[in-house]
Amino acid sequence: MSTNTPITPDVMTIPRKSVDGVLPNLIGMMRPDLANALAEIGTPPKQIKMRAGQIWQWIYVKGARRFDEMTNLSKDFRALLAENFSLTRPEIVTKQVSEDGTRKYLLRIAGGHEVEAVYIPETDRGTLCISSQIGCTLTCTFCHTGTQKLVRNLTPAEIIGQVLVARDDLEEWDRPPSYKRLLSNIVLMGMGEPLYNTDNVRDAMLIAMDNEGIALSRRRITLSTSGIVPEIIRAGEEIGCMLAISFHATTDEVRDVLVPINRKHKIAELLEACRNYPRLSNSERITFEYVMLKDVNDTDADARRLVNLISGIPAKINLIPFNPWPGSGYERSDWKRIESFADIVNKAGYASPVRTPRGEDIMAACGQLKSATERARKSRKQIAAEIEGQ
Ligand code: SAH
Ligand code: SF4
Repeated sequence: MSTNTPITPDVMTIPRKSVDGVLPNLIGMMRPDLANALAEIGTPPKQIKMRAGQIWQWIYVKGARRFDEMTNLSKDFRALLAENFSLTRPEIVTKQVSEDGTRKYLLRIAGGHEVEAVYIPETDRGTLCISSQIGCTLTCTFCHTGTQKLVRNLTPAEIIGQVLVARDDLEEWDRPPSYKRLLSNIVLMGMGEPLYNTDNVRDAMLIAMDNEGIALSRRRITLSTSGIVPEIIRAGEEIGCMLAISFHATTDEVRDVLVPINRKHKIAELLEACRNYPRLSNSERITFEYVMLKDVNDTDADARRLVNLISGIPAKINLIPFNPWPGSGYERSDWKRIESFADIVNKAGYASPVRTPRGEDIMAACGQLKSATERARKSRKQIAAEIEGQ
């Protein structure tokens, strides 16, 4: 059968519209699922691989938003696709641009939920910080997202959709290979714990890395976790991206409070998983994130303990001045304190950039993300009670 043979009605299955009228989204489908979906609507078996490749290119290289843009597919086939599938992206509700160029997108996804993604331009790169969940089940005491109840995990389409929407906004589709990307890096550091949604995060990141699509190197993707040890091992094997650990304390006593998952996976166990993370080397180091909280975790003794704990792990340390939010109960360490801490870490041979707060004026900085519709903020007391109960 020639590749141009129109698909006749007798091989079509009934449109796949589900009861609630939602068509399956081709965005976020892995290649085998995409091929299956095309088979189900009656695409001749010999054409499936090629059609899937063409559609993949339209979605991830050219940024197509509608099937009728896919001009190398026959009109009939485009109509058939449109009848059976959607190309649904998160919808931009608001876009705020900070004085420093940071862009914060508030995005609406299915169910009327909202998530945030933040684009941070730098001189040598542009990083998109994306969310993996609506809210978070963990209750790190210094984190604004942690005060928002988990609503649900994001789907692969909603995760990769954040990248698509940012590329739309940056007008970054279908560029020649020599083009210097504005969106060159992804960090999974937005709302949620990516390793409580590992499968969907993995699929979305494999899509982002696919060479015939967005084609970001795995070394340009960093996943940040509070320390879900068994999943760290899977992330290394199944995603292969760079790893960041929200470390934040140098004793179990303090970490148990700041990052309550530490009660389940202690510092020693977490560091063991880090030591075993695949491909660690000087060019592929683990980032240890450390939020600087005044009089909580910021002494010189903490700095020394930190370098001792991670000794032998190819690492960099990212010091994050605490970003305040209403009712947090914490304060940012003084700059002098942060400098003294950084100095000890530097002298021990670790790069320790202090993360300049970006987009603070639009509440886009680390830990400040929280969707406007999810105002059901837990009180400090409630959080404390939950930690006690764990
Ligand atoms: N849940 C994952 C991904 C979120 S990453 C994780 O915890 O790693 C967001 C980073 O910002 C984490 O290192 C988090 O600990 C840090 N963070 C959270 N609240 C913050 C705040 N108020 N100020 C500065 N950093 C914060
Ligand atoms: Fe969740 Fe990460 Fe915030 Fe902890 S720091 S509450 S894991 S988003």
